[in-house]
Amino acid sequence: MKEVKPLHRVEIKTTEKKYQGVLLERPALADKKYIVLKLDNGYNIGLEKKKIKSIRDLGSVKAGKHTKPGRENKGDKPHVSVIATGGTIASRVDYLTGGVHSAFSAQELISAVPELKSIADIRGKQLYNKFSENIQPGDWVSIAKSVARELDDKALGVVVTHGTDTLGYTAAALAFMLKTPVPVVLTGAQRSSDRGSSDAALNLIHSVKTAAESKYPGVCVVMHANLSDDISLIHNPARVRKMHSSRRDAFQSVNCAPLGRVSEKEIILHQEYTPRVNKPELNTKINEAVSLIKYHPGLKPQVIDYLVDSGYEGIVLEGTGLGHTSERLFDSIKAGTDSGILFCMSSQTLNGRVNMNVYSTGRVLIDCGVIPCADMLPETALVKLMWVLGQTKNRKKAAEMMLTDYVGEISDKSHIKDDLSVFES
Ligand code: GLU
Repeated sequence: MKEVKPLHRVEIKTTEKKYQGVLLERPALADKKYIVLKLDNGYNIGLEKKKIKSIRDLGSVKAGKHTKPGRENKGDKPHVSVIATGGTIASRVDYLTGGVHSAFSAQELISAVPELKSIADIRGKQLYNKFSENIQPGDWVSIAKSVARELDDKALGVVVTHGTDTLGYTAAALAFMLKTPVPVVLTGAQRSSDRGSSDAALNLIHSVKTAAESKYPGVCVVMHANLSDDISLIHNPARVRKMHSSRRDAFQSVNCAPLGRVSEKEIILHQEYTPRVNKPELNTKINEAVSLIKYHPGLKPQVIDYLVDSGYEGIVLEGTGLGHTSERLFDSIKAGTDSGILFCMSSQTLNGRVNMNVYSTGRVLIDCGVIPCADMLPETALVKLMWVLGQTKNRKKAAEMMLTDYVGEISDKSHIKDDLSVFES
């Protein structure tokens, strides 16, 4: 195929049809077998190179302002590092298939949002290009180390871009692994950057603003607050959850208020935060022999037996209501705790807190050795148990650590009215 430069108007004849439009730049990570053409009706289409019979160059068009990739706006602005790990925020629609593919590198992502230059001196780093369903606990360790390296290299804040599906798990893991005196912000997007309804740019702008200006000393998550394009919320990394499969305001703090909010004008933190440390401290030791089991009618005790026999050292149960499972699991759970496995109870209601002293089921489970995890989210309890069992082999110490609040993941009393009040009237 004749080489024509991007941003030239072209006429293309394929084996099927003739097209006129503007040849678009292909991102570094895009499939090299296709070109993308912006048609006069505004739609982009992908054309397979091998089907193109001829291409006529009709001359260059005036390109939109494009920022050269690289370290942006060196100068007096705070230095913020953006570490890209993949996900929709770094994706674009493939106009051939309608599917969404990872496509943007960290630098392309930064360059695509020129507003960032006025907020901070940005350094981009591509750690992965993964959808977050493929992120594993070992990746949390690499991300935490990568963040720590950027902080050691004088970043005044770090933004980690991440797929939204498992962003909450990574956020919780970073919170336990990394103590930081400056902001470390995780963000993502529900809609890819090349769609009109994308939340990518606003989430990135507000995250960089939080990293550069908030002085929040720790890990947090910044995502759209609502369906309009003006406010984002700052969430506790161990309390946040993706609560909708596609809405832009999918991320919500559970069992607590968000830490703050960001708009173009200002950042409001709902309380004053004092740094726990003067310089970053990294503790990435984890034990991956931990699983999360959601109790459901029909769950067989053999599932627990299997985990016990397979060498698991910790099991988080996502129980019903105040923290229950069927009595038919009791023997397996007891056998598990007797062999040294730590069982922790969270609730599938998400809101409210576990209280296993109310019903006999809960009391029996406590007698079997199950630790009630108060108002901790099930996935936070999973991540925390991996981290705790990475710190100690001692079961009693591990149980104490599970009930110690490290990053705001657990509270004495949920702000949501305690479910037990129904028993008081
Ligand atoms: N499943 C993908 C991921 O979590 C895309 C979802 C997203 O980023 O919003 O990476």
